[in-house]
Amino acid sequence: MAKLAPEKRIIEIKPVADPNAKVYPRSVKGRFQNWRVIMVWLTQIVFYGLCWLPWNSRQAVLFDLDLRRFYFFDFVLWPQDTIYLTILLLLSALALFLFTAVAGRLWCGYACPQTVYTEIFLWVEKLIEGDRPARIKLDAAPTSARKVGKKTLKHSIWLGIALWTGLTFVGYFTPIRDLLAGIGHGTTGAWEVFWVLFYGGATYGMAGFMREHMCKYICPYAQFQFVMFDHDTLIIAYDAERGEPRGTRPKKADPSALGLGSCIDCGVCVQVCPTGIDIRDGLQLECIGCAACIDGCDQVMDKVGYPRGLIRYSTENAVQHHYGRSEIIRRAVRIRTLLYLLAFLGIAGATGWSLATRAPLKLAIQKDRTVLYREADNGRIENTFQIQLTNASEQDRRFRIQAKGIADIAIAGNGELEVPAAALRDLTLEVSVPAGALDSGSHPIVFEVSDESDPRRRVEGKASFWMP
Ligand code: SF4
Ligand code: SF4
Repeated sequence: MAKLAPEKRIIEIKPVADPNAKVYPRSVKGRFQNWRVIMVWLTQIVFYGLCWLPWNSRQAVLFDLDLRRFYFFDFVLWPQDTIYLTILLLLSALALFLFTAVAGRLWCGYACPQTVYTEIFLWVEKLIEGDRPARIKLDAAPTSARKVGKKTLKHSIWLGIALWTGLTFVGYFTPIRDLLAGIGHGTTGAWEVFWVLFYGGATYGMAGFMREHMCKYICPYAQFQFVMFDHDTLIIAYDAERGEPRGTRPKKADPSALGLGSCIDCGVCVQVCPTGIDIRDGLQLECIGCAACIDGCDQVMDKVGYPRGLIRYSTENAVQHHYGRSEIIRRAVRIRTLLYLLAFLGIAGATGWSLATRAPLKLAIQKDRTVLYREADNGRIENTFQIQLTNASEQDRRFRIQAKGIADIAIAGNGELEVPAAALRDLTLEVSVPAGALDSGSHPIVFEVSDESDPRRRVEGKASFWMP
């Protein structure tokens, strides 16, 4: 019986017989296919639907590149907040490392846009051209009105889905209602048209034609993620110890009497594979972890009356040492995964706290450097400051500005400023102190800006006051 040696390479890189041969995945039913269908619906409801959701009189999620603002429900992020987008990327990377180390290619198999759109395009293909044998037959058949009609219909629907996908994508950067109205009136900008066609074309090409080639040769994540695998990472595993020697057999025959394992060599696992590989050759770079072969093989096992799980989610160590589910779960907790988890939770927690407590108010202060100080008629020493206040909330607000740090420091005027929602205002402030109150040179002061309707919402900024 074949056993995996502990030092065996995690990924087998085997030459593919004909890498350009078209793959005709056979449709399959089963629990993992059900999960894939659920994931397609979930991801697409969110993707196609979220851009239509109104929030505070605008689109709930919008990257407004013109105004350089990112709206996400109640959060409005400004260019100064790009740190949050950087942290989001860092968290995504950490989550990916953690997820891959524990669960292998679950992302590829269930949620990656390439997988999801390929799945959608395959549904359309199957609906129009039929399942695998019918599609192979149709492609091999000479050109006919029926063949041209089917192909035209399929590509028309594919193009419709692809263009709507491109439109939806651009709808996260230009409000989607304005975008559609612009298309209706022929006033859409050239760049918007370009990006709709670009993303639409990319969807059409990648889900309709490139399919498994994207995963095999182009996707960088597919290429580097295996360095994150170890012998306790969840993979799709063929139980060679149980399955071999493989071979066909008469119905109801006792495999042990024939010296055979459980694999009846029916080829279903290969036919359902969207990347066209044979998982019985071992885990391969091309395996996207979609589990279609598990569903296919389970159906076969049910038919011949053998226990399910000849192909199953497992780990290399579990297959080799016959670990049960609890041991597999226990071994998911290891130093590497714990470090990823701690880093993820630490950064996510700090970012969440920072977002929850940040004042939707930003202050920038600049000292007028042309005149460091001035002696006013009333005998006080004046310094001029340029203040820029950004109201990052979505309500008009009135702010009170105070200067602190020097005894009897005062601001000319009432020190109040009204800033409309999601806008910024500049203000010139004359700040004065009594002559002789301080030595010559610069002295630190602090500007405090608070919201008149809620004084807890306030920010402070440091500056220097110059004395003659
Ligand atoms: S589907 Fe199962 S039984 Fe059929 S060839 Fe694949 S592993 Fe063997
Ligand atoms: S080998 Fe199985 S899990 Fe891997 S891509 Fe093919 S069908 Fe999906």
